[in-house]
Amino acid sequence: MSTLEQLSFDNTYARLPEGFFQRVQPTPFPNPHLVSVNPAAAKLIELDPREAKRPEFAEYFCGARALPGSDPLAMLYSGHQFGHYVPQLGDGRAILLGEVRNTKGETWDLQLKGAGLTRFSRDGDGRAVLRSTIREYLCGEAMHGLGIPTTRSLCIVSGEEVVWRERPEPGAMLLRMAPSHVRFGSFEVFFYRGQHENLKILADYVIQHDYPHLTDVENRYAKLLHEVAVRTGIMIAQWQAVGWSHGVMNTDNMSILGLTIDYGPYGFMEQFHPGFVCNHSDHHGRYSFQHQPDIGYWNIRALAKAMSPLIEQSDMQTAPEVYEQTMLERYAQLMRAKLGLLEVHAGDDKLVTDLLNLMDSSRAEYTNVFRSLAEFQQASANDGSAKDHFLHREAFDDWAARYRERLKAEKSQDTERQARMNRTNPKYVLRNHLAQSAIEQATRDKDYSEIDRLLNLLNDPFTNQPGMDAYTLPPAPGSESIIVSCSS
Ligand code: AMP
Ligand code: MG
Repeated sequence: MSTLEQLSFDNTYARLPEGFFQRVQPTPFPNPHLVSVNPAAAKLIELDPREAKRPEFAEYFCGARALPGSDPLAMLYSGHQFGHYVPQLGDGRAILLGEVRNTKGETWDLQLKGAGLTRFSRDGDGRAVLRSTIREYLCGEAMHGLGIPTTRSLCIVSGEEVVWRERPEPGAMLLRMAPSHVRFGSFEVFFYRGQHENLKILADYVIQHDYPHLTDVENRYAKLLHEVAVRTGIMIAQWQAVGWSHGVMNTDNMSILGLTIDYGPYGFMEQFHPGFVCNHSDHHGRYSFQHQPDIGYWNIRALAKAMSPLIEQSDMQTAPEVYEQTMLERYAQLMRAKLGLLEVHAGDDKLVTDLLNLMDSSRAEYTNVFRSLAEFQQASANDGSAKDHFLHREAFDDWAARYRERLKAEKSQDTERQARMNRTNPKYVLRNHLAQSAIEQATRDKDYSEIDRLLNLLNDPFTNQPGMDAYTLPPAPGSESIIVSCSS
């Protein structure tokens, strides 16, 4: 276990050519204080969790003190935003402090989001508001708890700085972590600038750093692209299965490691609705829930195009197909698991689709319907509480009869299946109103206890936790719906 000063940095990105980044120091804000620290993330970099009790902790993670061995920089990238290429993006407010290597040899980027202006800030102020850091902090850990690949977060630090969005809000910084923050857009910027030498340097870097098994492989760039396609397909299948929308699937928000990255106006669906758009600024629904798999395809094609100087035309064409096949197969597998099915039978896809259609027509609660299916019994006509979610009772009964038949066809054992389903279908997800109440307490009273409570809960979303049933409920009817936009 290290102290803050003992963290072992190896800043590989900082050793890339200068055109890849801007060296820049974070801009601290006055009187920083710790909002929350995540012991699970501290463990990944072997940081002693007691370090969070030192006053220096907040100073290090609001940029007021430099971590020994760190070499802060803002990464360059570009990307397609809502389908349009934007040639100059880059980290406008997230500064890579450095990469920490743990004793297992894993490296973790420490990125401080909200750390002030960089060359890539465009019209932004380089800051993040407490509200958005809490949303990113909690959702990253919620996704991790659900087994979905994601960036992680170590801590939130706030201070005496007001940040203007639609209104004045407290500013904050989030320390997020990932093995790499390289994005599809990191490749696109060099392709569209015609800097193909840098493109090759970046591809070699990513292989060496994150896909070392490809180092000496023939056609390694094509293999890299295909592995990214596979990882992206798996990630998006997992989003769909858990009913989650990212909200801003621009190519600059797509990780080269297939991690969920850049949490903004995301949302877990409550009432099931395929056209669900969580981002209030997404007027045409480009990034609606049901479009995510197609957008993944679009984005892989964009990456393939950016890598085209390094690969054969045929590999460019197969990458999106590899993505699609992986995504569809994994989705089918995950949905079968959500129904507690072990075998693959003809008609399984239809059983799933028919349930989703029923849920759609009743606007049934996505998470709770799947969770309640575990109560389903084969011998009796007991459908558990699932039926309560449906307006069209008879249609549900018909579906339930087919489900019962299907369970019988694979000789499913109720008790064993129930345990399995409860490890697949979460009881707790980060509902918007739950995040919102943590945000309100934090903003209004500097009371951060709800953040920690949610962090704890979402760490293990599958296990019943006593006294936490209120956290499984959708917002009370009539309560104001929470609008989330790109404002962060
Ligand atoms: P996002 O929509 O958060 O993925 O950000 C898109 C681009 O805008 C990225 O280049 C960000 O670094 C930059 N950006 C977003 N918000 C800010 C901000 N408040 N200040 C500076 N740059 C920002
Ligand atoms: Mg982004």
